[in-house]
Amino acid sequence: MNKRDCITGKSLSRNDLIELLSLENPVKIEQLRKNAENVLLSERGNQVYFRGLIEFSNICRNDCYYCGIRKSNNKVKRYSLSEKQVVDAALWCAKQGYGSIVLQSGERNDSEFVDTVERLVYVIKEKTVSAQLPDGLGITLCVGEHTFETYKRFFAAGAHRYLLRIETSSEDLFSRFHPQTQKIQSRIDCLKYLKEIGYFVGTGVMIGMPGQTIESLADDILFFKKTGVDMIGMGPYIPHSDTPLGEKEPSGYNNLLLSLKMIAVTRLVLKDINIAATTALQALKHNGRELGLRFGANVVMPQLTPKEVRKEYMLYDGKPCTEESRDDCSVCLKKRILSTGRIISLNNWGDRVRMGNDQP
Ligand code: SAH
Repeated sequence: MNKRDCITGKSLSRNDLIELLSLENPVKIEQLRKNAENVLLSERGNQVYFRGLIEFSNICRNDCYYCGIRKSNNKVKRYSLSEKQVVDAALWCAKQGYGSIVLQSGERNDSEFVDTVERLVYVIKEKTVSAQLPDGLGITLCVGEHTFETYKRFFAAGAHRYLLRIETSSEDLFSRFHPQTQKIQSRIDCLKYLKEIGYFVGTGVMIGMPGQTIESLADDILFFKKTGVDMIGMGPYIPHSDTPLGEKEPSGYNNLLLSLKMIAVTRLVLKDINIAATTALQALKHNGRELGLRFGANVVMPQLTPKEVRKEYMLYDGKPCTEESRDDCSVCLKKRILSTGRIISLNNWGDRVRMGNDQP
């Protein structure tokens, strides 16, 4: 690959992606980081956007083999926050100037759940319109697979972004990590519906799962490109001891480093999209999220879930920030971001600007 391609990501082939993801030499890795950072700075500037994360329920009908809140893990105390708790967290977020929230939960598709989500979106929108936020908080939903009609209802209520991780774009790996009833095609269909409706669409994968290869991760990046996503939320796979996959042999990769390389290479290929420095990075290293920003991420998700229930949303062992209060989290994150030389953009949704042909 020539130097220019490496910097611009212009015509990186599958082999180039594999080569970059396989880098082990620290000097070369630093070069990759720098290139990704340069692409980010020239495409999007040095602002970091906040998405306040509210994990409003851990009730889940799915049984993903890696996930701590899977249906069959009966050690988990199940909770659903009240409407007031969720709205209060959203108002707190607006007051801090964060600009956006993510409403995340386990997966349910019963009508009570759908009605609840629709109402939450509507009420939060209504209550957060202000001089600083003329269209209210930007709302991202991350509530799993639904029908086209349901996604339309959520959109009409005011959610304009949706995050649905594909988890892995390999059909074979997907079927190894999920029960037969969960299909990769169904997630792909959902991503299509979301785009068609007009959401800013996000997806992502877990990095360093048992049996996952560098080739498969390169294909994940090509999948992001083909799908035409606006946002990526991806992070290291971290075992949870009460899950079937938790007992399996680890992948043998340095999952933190591999995740940072994935962020950087995705930035080179997809340039102007939003990429989150996810909490899971910090589970592997105290400054993992800062490293994520330095490797090309531009979004962070401060924890807004009420402290009382945070430890019940344990997706993986050692999930950070389960003890702090919202205020601690916000102070700590601000320091972390400023330490990377970036600036925090307040009262701003921080979406990528869509160009002509990627309009839905
Ligand atoms: N039910 C929602 C939200 C799922 S939880 C949905 O399906 O979209 C959010 C994400 O946590 C998942 O998409 C998954 O990628 C991640 N996750 C779950 N278990 C994990 C683990 N053991 N290690 C790292 N990430 C994990």
